[in-house]
Amino acid sequence: MSSPPRRAAVIEPVAETVRLNGVGFGYADSPDVLRGVNLSLQAGSFHFLTGPSGAGKSTLLRLLTLSERATSGEVRLFGQDASSLSRAETPYVRRRIGAVFQDFRLLDHLDLFENAALPLRLAGQRPRDYAPDVEEMLRWVGLGDRLDARPPSLSGGEKQRLAIARAVMGKPDLIIADEPTGSVDQVMADRLLKLFQALNRLGATVLIASHDEALAERSGARRLHLERGRLFGGAR
Ligand code: ADP
Repeated sequence: MSSPPRRAAVIEPVAETVRLNGVGFGYADSPDVLRGVNLSLQAGSFHFLTGPSGAGKSTLLRLLTLSERATSGEVRLFGQDASSLSRAETPYVRRRIGAVFQDFRLLDHLDLFENAALPLRLAGQRPRDYAPDVEEMLRWVGLGDRLDARPPSLSGGEKQRLAIARAVMGKPDLIIADEPTGSVDQVMADRLLKLFQALNRLGATVLIASHDEALAERSGARRLHLERGRLFGGAR
């Protein structure tokens, strides 16, 4: 396989991983899903984003994973204006982000090992180099004995754990997780929280959206709160 892709020269380490300035977002039939959102996530910080269902948490995360574009205001990732990223730059920025989506987005035709290894394969690494790490991660999330299984045979909680393993496998600089513990019991939720905390200690910036107030409390992480499209606690 070819050598790992080099990062674009413009993407240098910056103190602020995420910056939102006056961000608004609307869908055609709900124009004010996010309103005047200001947010600063310092590199290496750990935040929980809470708020009632429909508050706009998933929408906010979709702006950060470049799945949606802000209707107004500015989204900056790793110091770069997201709206000015070229087609060539976008994949490099995406590769620095490990995202856990609510619908998991697993590839059903690949087995668990291949799903979890995807970020490393896309980064040009060789299977013989990454296999031990992938197997260790899958063991950590309790899937070590299912390496050959395919996603359709997994329970909701197992899919969630696989999605998390895949998201963090490439040691992303920014981890964004949408309700990452919504389908698992409390013991597993605490175990997954430990995983996010360990990656945070290694330097990753972490943002977790969750309706689980108790988990957010136990995490000791800083809190952001979204209420009808308005963000509290986000500005510095
Ligand atoms: P949360 O994650 O806090 O539950 P969401 O970001 O999913 O909130 O949704 C915020 C608002 O945007 C809700 O009113 C929801 O109905 C609306 N919404 C979400 N996704 C879409 C969409 N694809 N099209 C239209 N409206 C949407």
